[in-house]
Amino acid sequence: MMTQLIDSHTHIYAEEFDEDFSAMLQRAEESGVSQMVLPCVDSESWPLIQSLSEAYPQRLFPTIGLHPTYVKEDYEAQLSYLEQHFSVGIVAIGEIGLDYYWDTTFRSEQLKAFESQLRWAHQLGLPVILHVREAFRDTFDLLRSLQLPGLRGVFHSFTGSREELEEALSFEHFYIGINGVVTFKNSSLKEYVADIPLDRLVVETDAPYLAPVPKRGRRNEPAFLPYTASFVASCYQISDEELSARTSKNARRLFALPPR
Ligand SMILES: [Zn+2]
Repeated sequence: MMTQLIDSHTHIYAEEFDEDFSAMLQRAEESGVSQMVLPCVDSESWPLIQSLSEAYPQRLFPTIGLHPTYVKEDYEAQLSYLEQHFSVGIVAIGEIGLDYYWDTTFRSEQLKAFESQLRWAHQLGLPVILHVREAFRDTFDLLRSLQLPGLRGVFHSFTGSREELEEALSFEHFYIGINGVVTFKNSSLKEYVADIPLDRLVVETDAPYLAPVPKRGRRNEPAFLPYTASFVASCYQISDEELSARTSKNARRLFALPPR
């Protein structure tokens, strides 16, 4: 049995969990995953996240932010809605970033929304959860040019190249979030994941997406996090217990989570 793991990124407020929410949380608890960070993606997800984190204090932790693939014509209205809902207990601004994989129609709007939200985090002294897909160059350039001293955060669902990993790690207050993708047969991430210093690594499910092997293709859920954690531990050639302890300590520090 592993020690406690923290799922640093999970969308358990999604409708995929409507049918079996409490059973799903119970399975998570039984597999050692008792605390989770719930990343907001837009104004529709916020009320769901807020009510769940009020219902499960000390276990589920809310963030607020506009995800880059949800940046459309109305992004300014979205941002002002989210800004009006800043509240005590929010552990991060996220998920925010740039995604040029699905669509680049709103590229300039994505950049503007990203910049505004990075400034929020800096002003509030909160970490950021970064979603970056096919957009590392612009992300790194923006982070550097804004010069927001002390800004900290996580490159969530990191699946970049070895070179991109090296550059991400050059942002010294940032962690790297690894999920089930690392277990996929066709992923080269496993070859260099252990280059991440152990004090910069966090793990996540990104449920309901990206279930790790041997659950690949199914709905992902927090109870599957130990598969990813154990796989990553084997890449570092350390025990599952050590991996759990290190990544939980990192997630707790990054998001200022209470002990469990
Ligand atoms: Zn996400």
